[in-house]
Amino acid sequence: ILETRQLNKRFGGLHVTGNVDFALQPGEMHCLIGPNGAGKSTFFKLILGEHLSDSGQILYDGADITRAKPFERIRRGISVKFQVPGIFRELSTRQNLTIALQHHVSPQVLSEEIDRLLEFLKLADDRDKQAGNLSHGQKQWLEIGMAVALKPQLLLLDEPTAGMTPDETYATGAMLQDLNRAGMTVLAVEHDMAFVRQIAHQVTVLHLGKIFAQGTIDEIVADERVAAIYLGESDA
Ligand code: ATP
Ligand code: MG
Repeated sequence: ILETRQLNKRFGGLHVTGNVDFALQPGEMHCLIGPNGAGKSTFFKLILGEHLSDSGQILYDGADITRAKPFERIRRGISVKFQVPGIFRELSTRQNLTIALQHHVSPQVLSEEIDRLLEFLKLADDRDKQAGNLSHGQKQWLEIGMAVALKPQLLLLDEPTAGMTPDETYATGAMLQDLNRAGMTVLAVEHDMAFVRQIAHQVTVLHLGKIFAQGTIDEIVADERVAAIYLGESDA
C-alpha cells in the first residue's frame, strides 16, 4: 500500500532520513521503533507531505505521491495522529467528533456515526465533557477517533500510547486491532514494547535515519545489535 524508495531528507548537515527503502503491505500492522532522534517523526512527516524529501520516491496505492500536497494524501486515504495533541480543548468530546465528520457524512447519519465512534472509543459516558477535561488516555483516544472518523485506508500514529497507563495502552491496542480487522493498515511509532508485541505483525528499527533492522517482534528483541543501539554502544 505504501512504499518509499531511496528516500532522503537532510536538515542542514544532518542526514535525518538516509536512503530509506520501506514497504508496507495492505492490512499490515507495522511498528516503527528506534532511539530518540532516530528520525521516526521525520519519516512520518515525509509520508504525510509535511516535509518534502530531498530525493527519492514515495508510492501510495501505486501512485507517486512524492510531491503531493498533504490534503491530497489525506484525500487518497492517509490519516494521522500526531505526537502533539490536536483536539479542541474547549469543545466537548461530541463536538470534536462532529468537527471531524460533519463535512463528510450526510446530516441524517451524522449523529449515528458519532454515537458509533463514541462507543468504540469508550467515550460514550463522557460525550458532553470538555475535551480538555478528559483524562490523558481519553484525549489520545479522542484523537485516534478524529483520525479514523473518515475511515482512512492507512493510519499513521506517532507514539499513540505515550503517557498512558498499561490498561489504557492495552485498550488502545485492542482498538487498533479492531480497525485493522475492518481493513485499516496501521503504521505506529512506539516505544512501549508490550504494545508493539500486542499489535505488530512487523517491526522496523530506525537508527540514525536508516533502517537498522526489520522483522517480527521476537526477531527484533533477540537481535543483540538492536539492544546495543538502545544502550548507545553502536553507531553503525
Ligand atoms: P523521538 O523519539 O524523540 O520522537 P524521532 O525518531 O521522532 O525522535 P525526529 O523528530 O524525526 O526523531 O528527529 C530526527 C533528527 O532530526 C533529530 O536530530 C532532530 O533534532 C532533527 N530534526 C527534526 N526536525 C527538524 C527540523 N524541522 N529542523 C532541523 N532538524 C530537525
Ligand atoms: Mg518523534
